[in-house]
Amino acid sequence: MNDRRQFLKGAAVVAGATALAACGKEDAQTSGGNSAQQQTFEWKMVTSWPKNFPGLGTGANNFADLLEKMSGGRIKVKVYGAKELVGPFEVFDAVSRGTAQLGHGGSYFWSGKVPISPFFTSVPFGMNAQEMNAWMYQGGGLELWQEAYEPFGLMPFPIGNTGVQMGGWFNKEINSLDDFKGLKMRIPGMAGEVLRRLGGTPVTLPGGELFQALQSGTIDATEWVGPYNDLAFGFHKAAKYYYAPGWHEPGSTMEAIVNKEAFESLPADLQEIVKAATRVANMDMLADYTASNQRALEDLVNKHGVELRTFPDDLLIELKRVSEDVLREAGEKDAFSKKVYDSFMSFRANVMKWHSVSEEAFYRARNL
Ligand code: CA
Repeated sequence: MNDRRQFLKGAAVVAGATALAACGKEDAQTSGGNSAQQQTFEWKMVTSWPKNFPGLGTGANNFADLLEKMSGGRIKVKVYGAKELVGPFEVFDAVSRGTAQLGHGGSYFWSGKVPISPFFTSVPFGMNAQEMNAWMYQGGGLELWQEAYEPFGLMPFPIGNTGVQMGGWFNKEINSLDDFKGLKMRIPGMAGEVLRRLGGTPVTLPGGELFQALQSGTIDATEWVGPYNDLAFGFHKAAKYYYAPGWHEPGSTMEAIVNKEAFESLPADLQEIVKAATRVANMDMLADYTASNQRALEDLVNKHGVELRTFPDDLLIELKRVSEDVLREAGEKDAFSKKVYDSFMSFRANVMKWHSVSEEAFYRARNL
């Protein structure tokens, strides 16, 4: 009897709940309140990467999957590789004008529109992934980034990180500053400017043309990303020496951009889901790069006989000196650039003090 009474009581509660839900649904249809929670959104994501490109393209797919799963299917995202809908360097404009609701790329591609934008990806001798995340989420970096994209109707979010990149592939040993003089190297952006000031010739080439250029001797060296992506491109077949560290890209933060109008058309819970999904995808990409880089490095050294080298200290000191000039000049372009530069540099100065007694001291101890 007791069980039956319990069962009936339960049934009544369920019936009551159903009635309430039905009532809510009706209300929603008349007031428009809850109907947003039934509505599904079909979004497009344009990317700067070839479809399924390891790490970056797969990171875009992961973000799309997260949005669909976390929203219970209320947000569906179709991912487009570079050139499928728009070119790799048209992502910013395409999302700004609403051709797509989402974009996946890197802020340093847009320095023509926002001159200080490389600071939101990575700059020479800047910050590593952990430090970039701390600056973004806790140090005011993300607010500045959002301020930078506001005039374009875009909301940027960190969406992943490659970790510290490699210094690049060289077909001769780099033993001193002199070896950098006359060096023809594919190295983009601010780092290219650093190379130029040290007597080298920076070259900008798309990823797909690098292997051929290196093999034919059109260039003497190239940087790309790290073992994970570099092994896939086969650079070890075109150059003998693989140099560390990636002084020029110590922790490249990738970006997701959301069309602001599309974002604001979402009900409040989906807006929070979009924000939360960017944080999950951000962590997933760094984990992917860290795990895949160490496996690929093992293959490069043990299977392919790649010679690992570290840039000599006197060269690194010079690279850092010139880099600091290039960064400072970037911060002098306008008032907003100065604000970003000051925020970045003061965060870096403080985090360097902390990480020298924590991360660095631990790495040193672990290597003893
Ligand atoms: Ca790179």
